[in-house]
Amino acid sequence: MLHSRPEEDQLNCVYTLPIFGDNSTDFLPKYQLGQKSINPELAYQLIKDDLLDEGSARLNLATFCQTYMEPAAVRIMSETLEKNAIDKSEYPQTTDLENRCVNIIADLWNAPQDMAFIGTSTVGSSEACMLGGLAMKFSWRKNAEKFGLNINEKKPNLVISSGFQVCWEKFCVYWDIEMRLVPIDENHMSLNMDTVMDYVDDYTIGIVAIMGITYTGKYDDVKKLDKLVETYNQTTDFKISIHVDAASGGLFAPFIHPDLEWDFRLKNVISINTSGHKYGLVYPGVGWIIWKDKCFLPSELIFKVSYLGGDIPTMAINFSRSSSHIIGQYFNFLSYGYDGYREIHQRTRNVAKYISEEVAKTGLFEIYNDGDNIPIVCWKMKENADKKWTLYDLADRLRINGWQVPAYPLPNDMSNIVIQRVVIRQDLSLQLAGLFVENLKESIHTLDHAHIIIYGNTDEKKGAFGFTH
Ligand SMILES: *Cc1c(COP(=O)(O)O)cnc(C)c1O
Repeated sequence: MLHSRPEEDQLNCVYTLPIFGDNSTDFLPKYQLGQKSINPELAYQLIKDDLLDEGSARLNLATFCQTYMEPAAVRIMSETLEKNAIDKSEYPQTTDLENRCVNIIADLWNAPQDMAFIGTSTVGSSEACMLGGLAMKFSWRKNAEKFGLNINEKKPNLVISSGFQVCWEKFCVYWDIEMRLVPIDENHMSLNMDTVMDYVDDYTIGIVAIMGITYTGKYDDVKKLDKLVETYNQTTDFKISIHVDAASGGLFAPFIHPDLEWDFRLKNVISINTSGHKYGLVYPGVGWIIWKDKCFLPSELIFKVSYLGGDIPTMAINFSRSSSHIIGQYFNFLSYGYDGYREIHQRTRNVAKYISEEVAKTGLFEIYNDGDNIPIVCWKMKENADKKWTLYDLADRLRINGWQVPAYPLPNDMSNIVIQRVVIRQDLSLQLAGLFVENLKESIHTLDHAHIIIYGNTDEKKGAFGFTH
């Protein structure tokens, strides 16, 4: 278990010295605070060694989070670790860099000229989603009271596809909201436009559309959703709006699918979040949310912190944190520019297409996503593949070469289907992808001839193998 008191035998776990020529014979406890200080360099080495077997982050094809940044980016980030993002008054220039990022992102999402967008950085999309959801809840309540709805009769609800990321479940639990799930199925691998409006009523605070479903990489059809919502809104005082969870697609689609209308071009899309640390190309620790206009962010959610003798609004949930990731985001915008982002994403997408083709060529798998939306590829075993091994075995086998590729069941109504997914990021070059494909084929060959299959074709293995977010 993480973050818990260790088992009795672990309590006695110690580092034994000497190490690397250090002559001390001390024992250092691992789960208790040691009595004496040790040399910082020695502490560095001990921790480095602790982390040695965690695998190479670049071979981790399970995560959307960035595992590479330019050396100059790392330099500016490590030189700004001490700056506290909330101290707007002490660090007015840093505050301005954040504000430039908000402006750049609002432009990328086509914020209308005749409206006044407002936005903030966050720790990640999870915090941003909390804020987007809260704004919708507060707006709903105000409107409900205005039109005389008994707000205590039922819980308010949020409508989202069953391919939601866990932060939305947290949102609904934390703020006491009913989560209404629109199931995905074989023919609707993203939000089902035929049924979504059946889930809406006077108690709906909003609909969340996902740009890049975590499980399958598909985009929800936000344009179609906007039309459905517009038609619905003509008939009621309890108007619905759309928040787009663009954690993975928000800083990808504007460069690769610029003509796709999913953002503030759509009338009923009022807020959007993204993870700077996914296709914004920053190391984990930054997210963004922007409301199309100030009026969509209820004033109760705006607080003031002092800024150069005056006040500046803040709406993030968290207070103190380092500015370095915000600065890293600005570095990327400044250094790459539009063309740079587009080229990096295009190359990443080409690698996804290549892997998808190679996986298909084995003849064993049905491709669910070929990297056409966000650059992730996922597949399931063909019904007639006739193998004794499963995707869990394949994941296990690939781990021997250092690759981390999760296998997991699809959500809810499709949980009988197990898929495997690779997320392609900028640091998976075509050369590395070639190596991956080679290892994949070798793994299949080995499994075909294996005497012992660890997971095999049993029905019990329904859990996820590896990290699936
Ligand atoms: C990753 C992800 C999140 C959570 O984002 P963090 O930045 O990790 O907090 C939320 N929604 C979707 C669709 C995601 O892919």
